[in-house]
Amino acid sequence: MTDTALMPIPGPIDPVPVARPGVSDGITPRADGRVDLIGLPRPRIAELFAEAGLDAKAAKLRAKQVYHWLYHRGVSDFAAMTDIAKTMRPWLAERFVIGRPEVVEAQHSTDGTRKWLLRTADGHDFEMVFIPDADRGTLCVSSQVGCTLNCRFCHTGTMRLVRNLTPGEIVGQVMLARDELGEWPQGNMARQMDVSEEEDAAEYSADGRLLTNIVMMGMGEPLYNFDNVRDALQLVMDGDGLALSKRRITLSTSGVVPMMERCGEEIGVNLAVSLHAVTKAVRDEIVPLNRKYGIEQLLQACADYPGASNARRITFEYVMLKGMNDSDEDARELVRLLRQYDLPAKVNLIPFNPWPGAPYECSTPERVRRFSDIVFEAGISAPVRTPRGRDIDAACGQLKTAAEKKTRAELDRLAEEKQAALQ
Ligand code: SAH
Ligand code: SF4
Repeated sequence: MTDTALMPIPGPIDPVPVARPGVSDGITPRADGRVDLIGLPRPRIAELFAEAGLDAKAAKLRAKQVYHWLYHRGVSDFAAMTDIAKTMRPWLAERFVIGRPEVVEAQHSTDGTRKWLLRTADGHDFEMVFIPDADRGTLCVSSQVGCTLNCRFCHTGTMRLVRNLTPGEIVGQVMLARDELGEWPQGNMARQMDVSEEEDAAEYSADGRLLTNIVMMGMGEPLYNFDNVRDALQLVMDGDGLALSKRRITLSTSGVVPMMERCGEEIGVNLAVSLHAVTKAVRDEIVPLNRKYGIEQLLQACADYPGASNARRITFEYVMLKGMNDSDEDARELVRLLRQYDLPAKVNLIPFNPWPGAPYECSTPERVRRFSDIVFEAGISAPVRTPRGRDIDAACGQLKTAAEKKTRAELDRLAEEKQAALQ
């Protein structure tokens, strides 16, 4: 069974120490009994075709063809798979589906940022954000519905229920973004499978693509859903799949130390770490996971991160909270710590994005600049991240689904009605 059970928020610290083992067979559950192929690797698709009655050789060949259509061409209808026999296509459609997360709402910010409210087949809402820049386009992908970690400055952390997204729901976000941006390689739909790999690669690296980068910085803690995130990103990175380079993918963690080495070894993408504070007292308060994995342990895991080098630095995210973590001393201590662990580091300063009821304020622009200058003067890059999509609540830490907001609004209305009835 895929681990899609709802997990209630237990308290300030998630009791789940590491990813749950052995819970995922990768299949996104569906009410109609058909199997959604999105999220499955080629050998698993071949197995399913064999289980459905094809002989082993045919199953393998069909899986290769279907895989290519699904992940490389972005086809979402078996009828369009022109190199598969016409009679075979309805056979496939009876047993399998090519899923995408359902789009509940799409919003466009005045700065070009786009946010989609998405829904899983079993009715859970989550969000995905696309941030266009002059030289790149970054898709911010969610790994969970909600988050168990309750960082005090993060809106997602206030959601009451959490469910891991399946590999299909994770890779499905990237596929949906390509649909919405009209970015699947055109190719010649009638072309047969003997298309040369060079030709395909050329289509993918063509200039002018909108979606060039992926960050696992949407809802959820990706290292608490390790297996599903890894399986999804493997499809994204596969040259015959979505074919996006691992150098263009960044995974952000709040510091799940026991999973960091496996992240480097089994996924190999760039690492971003949500540090946000340099003393135990402050980090314990704003990132409660710190009570379990402290700053020293976290920085040691960063120093050991497989693949980190001066060419591939680790990003340290640091949210600027007025009067909390933004003093000159904090900046100097940050430099000292990064030096002590000899980390190939860059620092990303994130102005705090407010949300209704948030217990903090953003540092002043002068304070942010001063903090940045101190880190820069020590020879460590420390740019300030420009908030994007604030008008549609798409900026860092503002994600929280409309469904959940509605529930709150609904609750308020019910409370008012109750009050009125009592008077
Ligand atoms: N759970 C992961 C990834 C998702 S959060 C993590 O915490 O790293 C992506 C980034 O947004 C994190 O660095 C997070 O700390 C930051 N963030 C959360 N709430 C924020 C807010 N209100 N303002 C600015 N950044 C925020
Ligand atoms: Fe979860 Fe990241 Fe938000 Fe913390 S900042 S509550 S880990 S999504």
